[in-house]
Amino acid sequence: MKVELRPCRYVQSRFGLPVRRELEGYTCPKPEWSGEGYCIFHNPNPDKDHEMFREQLKLQLQQCFIGFIFPRRFTFPSIDFHDADFAFSRFCGTADFQNMTFSGKTNFQYATFHEGANFRGSRFKADVDFIGSEFTGTAWFNDTILDACIGFISTHFKGEVWFAGISNAIADMTGAIFEKEVHFHNTTFSASSFIETQFMGITTFGYFKHMGNRSDIDAASKAPKIVFFEGVDMKHLLFREADLTRASFSQCYNLDQASFYDCKWNTESGRSHVLYDELELRGKVEPWEKMAEREIKRRKGKNQINADSNNGVEIQPAQPLLDVKHSAVEETCRAFKKHFEDRRNFLVAGDFHEGEMEMRRLAKGTWGRRFFSIEAIYWLLSQYGQRWLRPLVCFIVLNLIAATLYSLTGLQLEGDSLVIRWGSNLESSLLFWADSIYIYLQALLYSVSVSALLRGIGATPNHIFGLFVQTVQFVLGPLLIFLIGLAIRRRLRR
Ligand SMILES: [Zn+2]
Repeated sequence: MKVELRPCRYVQSRFGLPVRRELEGYTCPKPEWSGEGYCIFHNPNPDKDHEMFREQLKLQLQQCFIGFIFPRRFTFPSIDFHDADFAFSRFCGTADFQNMTFSGKTNFQYATFHEGANFRGSRFKADVDFIGSEFTGTAWFNDTILDACIGFISTHFKGEVWFAGISNAIADMTGAIFEKEVHFHNTTFSASSFIETQFMGITTFGYFKHMGNRSDIDAASKAPKIVFFEGVDMKHLLFREADLTRASFSQCYNLDQASFYDCKWNTESGRSHVLYDELELRGKVEPWEKMAEREIKRRKGKNQINADSNNGVEIQPAQPLLDVKHSAVEETCRAFKKHFEDRRNFLVAGDFHEGEMEMRRLAKGTWGRRFFSIEAIYWLLSQYGQRWLRPLVCFIVLNLIAATLYSLTGLQLEGDSLVIRWGSNLESSLLFWADSIYIYLQALLYSVSVSALLRGIGATPNHIFGLFVQTVQFVLGPLLIFLIGLAIRRRLRR
């Protein structure tokens, strides 16, 4: 019986997408296979005959794989890809492109990878485009060699992504979404863009380097977990409207050459810019270890189900590359302070100054961090020269107490044998009160003049206790005035 061969029913029907004109309404020229209306390549059954699929693929002269549905257990024959077009194709199993060479432009627009995608060690000699593609499993781009531009515009990564060890790549991640972990360890981009990129899992940029003019990072992530910028060269990095509430900047360098516009920072009483590193050290946020532990548990559960999609590769748990210590965070705060001081933004610089001092204080022992250190006193009296109200209140209270003590112990007025002291002169009750208030006011005037190192009313304390109070005032008074002045100057500096 003769079976009449009808043409394959496949037609590219996703109109309105920003793709090449010839892809719109693309129809398949091949004949139908096994009576299901589609050719073997477009047959939607993920468990179709992968051996035959492979044999048929070898016979293809042009590498036009538009809309192909690669069956679950399919592996590529050894072909050299040249101008390969995988637009709208679907990989039902792991897409294994390890160590393959792609010469000519490669197109993966709107391709879907249902399990892992392995591009380890593969080489792209010309531009490769992943616009709108979707990765459900883990995607490996470790040690991929990129001689041209790789585009991940609006790519959706639902699994983990590894970009480790890529050098000199030009990458466009505009609008890409990373739902799980993503790692850019030791990656050097000669140009890159992260405009509106969303990092929703643990993200590491360890030792990341950007060599070109500018790299836009505005990861306006909805639920950012944590982004490690540890040991990263910040030169040429531009952060615009990025959510930095969960960003760790420990030991990154060239920070003064980065730019920050309208970024979202952690806030804390009176401070609008607090680093995540600082909050973590102070135990105000969940430490990354716990977060990473949860992530490992999640992975272990998943790996058992999905063992072969990982290609037998042992996945390391995410961890920051460096141990975060007070001194390291202090260093980072200082770098940020300098960054904002250079831009004459002294108010924000003040926030980082506070962070820097806070780290220095907390590095001390139990007593040192509470009271017995310069940093602790500086903190208690004026929040490291940031608050003017606190030292002012201290100054007022100091003088009120001192005036009371002088009134009780007596003051010897200059050029007069008279000693003024409460309850020493008059007996009549009305005069007693008036006199007491008069004495107190005189004592207060004397007290303020001592605190401010001024020559006010000439007097000397009449009692050894009064002399002691005076000495304390000589030390504390000018110090508090200095702190009030410092805080006001910080605030009004231009
Ligand atoms: Zn077809």
